[in-house]
Amino acid sequence: MSLQEHPANYVIALDIGGTTLKAALTDSDNEPLFRARRDTATGEPEAVVAGIVDFAAELAEEGRARRGGPPVAVGLAVPGVVDEAAGLARYSANLGWRDVPLARLVSDRLGGVPVALTHDVRAGGLAEGRLGAGAGVERFFFVALGTGIAGAIGVGGRMEPGAHGGAGEIGHVVVRPGGPRCGCGGHGCLETVASASAVGRAWAEASGAAGASAADAARAVAAGDGRALAVWRDAVEALADGLLVAVNLLDPEVVIVGGGLGEAGEILLDPLRSALAAKATFQRLPAVVPAALGEAAGRLGAGLLAWDHSQLPHTAEVSP
Ligand SMILES: [Zn+2]
Repeated sequence: MSLQEHPANYVIALDIGGTTLKAALTDSDNEPLFRARRDTATGEPEAVVAGIVDFAAELAEEGRARRGGPPVAVGLAVPGVVDEAAGLARYSANLGWRDVPLARLVSDRLGGVPVALTHDVRAGGLAEGRLGAGAGVERFFFVALGTGIAGAIGVGGRMEPGAHGGAGEIGHVVVRPGGPRCGCGGHGCLETVASASAVGRAWAEASGAAGASAADAARAVAAGDGRALAVWRDAVEALADGLLVAVNLLDPEVVIVGGGLGEAGEILLDPLRSALAAKATFQRLPAVVPAALGEAAGRLGAGLLAWDHSQLPHTAEVSP
């Protein structure tokens, strides 16, 4: 299909979160021509899925009004476990669904538009790799430190999903055997010690401030609070242990640190680099850098994925 036959020439990018759906209609140069967000539907998984499909249909209507035709493709960034090849949202603890054929449901509603689906952190990694902190880097590892921890492996401008869509799950590398119980059923997984949620909990306990967050902990660290420094050191040591596993397996040029805890910037990255250097023996260590795209990364990655998935020629890179 040529550009002339498909004058509408835009995609729908949709980043599905546990609380918010973030979307854009995006041009072939990755510029958003329309942005929207809404709350994720609550309740039964069927209601959550219906909310997503309805939102996609409204976005397509918006695109039709603006461009006179349907989108060339849709990209979905989905939390939890996904099967990209099958277009299935396999499991999400937050959203409560299992084996939802989300790509087909959205495609059917939009009259057969091609729909691609990926893991939300892999979408974030795709965007960081093409447009953000990994631009021009051949091999990188993106790690998102949020409610949990997940990673994404970038090689040659593409993301490596693994054989079953499970590659990059660094959050479930056991760094503290016998440690805190993890949502996955294991004990001492990295995300039980070093996620933004885990750091917030540890700081709430140490400071006595109920509901304290990782950002509160980072501020206390910056202020030189000894209790906060101890909480921080535990998280940083665990993170370095986990990342050293990634370094041993992947040998990336760059590790990109994002997610809520990543927003702490050098307060986190500086001690993290030191901890990695102290733990490494023979390994060539990667550069450890902050993510560049913030919370837009998932949505931007969904847009890039949609363009990749479409048959149209397009520009994958934009200058920053
Ligand atoms: Zn786990």
